[in-house]
Amino acid sequence: MLMVRFAIAAALATMMLVVPAAAQQRPQIETRKVDGTDNVYIFRNGGHQSIFIVTKDGVIATDPIAYGRPTGGQQYVDEIKKVTDKPIKYLIYSHHHFDHIAGGKAFKEAGARIIGHKNIKPHLVATQDPFTVMPDEFFDGKKTINLGGTTLELIYLGPNHSDSNIVMRLPKEKLIFVVDTIPVGAFPGLGFIDMYPLETESFIKKVIALDWDRLIPGHPGQPNDRLGTKKDAEDVLTLMQEASAEIKKQAQEGKCWEPAVKDFQMPKYATMPGYQAGLNFVARRYCSLWGRGT
Ligand SMILES: [Zn+2]
Repeated sequence: MLMVRFAIAAALATMMLVVPAAAQQRPQIETRKVDGTDNVYIFRNGGHQSIFIVTKDGVIATDPIAYGRPTGGQQYVDEIKKVTDKPIKYLIYSHHHFDHIAGGKAFKEAGARIIGHKNIKPHLVATQDPFTVMPDEFFDGKKTINLGGTTLELIYLGPNHSDSNIVMRLPKEKLIFVVDTIPVGAFPGLGFIDMYPLETESFIKKVIALDWDRLIPGHPGQPNDRLGTKKDAEDVLTLMQEASAEIKKQAQEGKCWEPAVKDFQMPKYATMPGYQAGLNFVARRYCSLWGRGT
């Protein structure tokens, strides 16, 4: 009993020592310029991130990433103001999920025009989330924003992680910003809940075919906040194809949901961050597809 008590006390002491140190290393909010660019910044709030581009005629911002953080939108606006005194002209939504687009009110009040794919609208109309602002403008296909010498393309390539995810491409900088569909260096997880499995494979192939060198993800890349490459996109596609083929076999043997979901392993990826937690989400999504038809 004494030993147990000692072990618990030691574990608590370790936690108390470790947690504040880790928190100090990584502030909640961080803004950094993307290497090799003059004016592209990554804004991170906790485990979410988005980009903003500063031009001589104003700022193009993306995803407010303020879900569960009532002051997060204003904090993002304030971070932009530390970099430039130019007005925020646009706020672009990557897709409709609140963890990425809640918090737009502060941008709207700062005068930004909010733009998103047309499929965002029915989701926001249906849910009426009090913290998520409706776009001023919707587009389909492709829309190009030119501001102060910067070109930003907004490209819809079909359903993927949701039916409203777009690719944002900076052609001069050869950068793309893609949220949730192509994790960088991490095993897929929660993002699989309501994704479109077959369409996502063709989406990733279309993304790879675009002209770009580096991918900025909506959650920091692993390790060390790195950006992604085409190799990362190819690796995610391979992982999905392997998972899909394995569960398809199980499903057609009548093993979905159980035991297919419970027994699912991808040992090749076992050392990736998020592997254990993600297996269940991946297996369930493909069991839904191959074992149920949805
Ligand atoms: Zn999402």
